[in-house]
Amino acid sequence: MIEADRLFQNARLGDGRIVDIAIAKGRIASIGSGLQVKVPADKTIDLKGRLVLPGLVDGHLHLDKGFVGDAWKPYRPCSAGFDVHERVEFEKQALAGALPVSVRAAALVEMCVAQGTTQMRSHVDIDPQAGLRNLEQVLAVRESHRDKVSIQVVAFPQSGIVNAPGVVDLLDEAIRNGADLIGGLDPAGYDNDIAGHLDPVFELAERHGVGVDIHLHDGDLLGIFEIEEIARRTKARGLNGKVAIAHAYALGQVPGDVARRTADRLVEAGISIMSNAPGAHVFPPLKMLHEAGVNVFAGNDNIRDSWWPFGDGDMLERAMIIAYRSGFNTDAELAIAFDMVTSNAARALGLAAYGLAKGAAADFVVVDARHIQEAVVARPKPRDVYKAGRLVASNGALVSGC
Ligand SMILES: [Zn+2]
Repeated sequence: MIEADRLFQNARLGDGRIVDIAIAKGRIASIGSGLQVKVPADKTIDLKGRLVLPGLVDGHLHLDKGFVGDAWKPYRPCSAGFDVHERVEFEKQALAGALPVSVRAAALVEMCVAQGTTQMRSHVDIDPQAGLRNLEQVLAVRESHRDKVSIQVVAFPQSGIVNAPGVVDLLDEAIRNGADLIGGLDPAGYDNDIAGHLDPVFELAERHGVGVDIHLHDGDLLGIFEIEEIARRTKARGLNGKVAIAHAYALGQVPGDVARRTADRLVEAGISIMSNAPGAHVFPPLKMLHEAGVNVFAGNDNIRDSWWPFGDGDMLERAMIIAYRSGFNTDAELAIAFDMVTSNAARALGLAAYGLAKGAAADFVVVDARHIQEAVVARPKPRDVYKAGRLVASNGALVSGC
């Protein structure tokens, strides 16, 4: 007889099996059919065959940028085509008149949790103007919401490194103050100096023993060269499995054989690729990368901020968008999209005890669907969201006092 704090009966797993899930001390103590469990009288929950998904993982978002919880800020288009420098400048102007980061980040976190996100990785701007102010506020939100969601923080040099004096020292201080990873941004396209950007990023990561997560919008063969440079440094610094590249548009722009060879470099270095399948933009061939052995994962990235007006924090919606834009139709392909917002994202984030298995953190989402494919295509609501075995959100709103 297992002793547990809670018992969930008649839970449907992704493969259709109906099981019981026993929770003890925030973890899954046992999972299987007909469990013999000693549990307090009012702590048995009959899920009546509803589908249980592992907690959704948003592998890439920006908690300091969103205007959720603030007034609607209309999107301001670039003067001619898309220009990252101009967008960064527009963003600084919009954020100067916005509510404090702490207010907006908390509102965004709570919106994501209500959709089923139990783990996230947020990039936070570190630049000469902001210093560590955004970081301090996001870390405070992380602490105040730690019973609802686990948050990794990337120290993100949004204004570059080479062209932003003092940022290397700020990134170093950010890690010492609680950030978990070092970020990066278009070493060529933004800083015009690939080694000048990447070398301090990887030096800091190795010195602190942390991972690296780099935004790479640079396209075509330039982007491929940068991916190779990132892979080379990853191996040289012993950071295999701890590095992610976000967007990597170049993989979707070059000929297929070039992308395939680059996939081999990514596998050798254990680098994960993040995609949110953004709007009308070319993005990586995710199925090819997956089949080549690359860990592909997803994040919402920008949610209702200066970069675009979309997003509601729903990672099932993100999986559907990825599948739709990738032309995924078969059950196996839909499963890739689902894995990108769950197990693959967990792997990219280095989460040790993740999933619906004995010993894993009891983070899960309960929805009305028969299997994961239906969960991706239908994005069913309402949802019950559990963190460490406690109900934290239901029917689109946070619950308290559970
Ligand atoms: Zn981003």
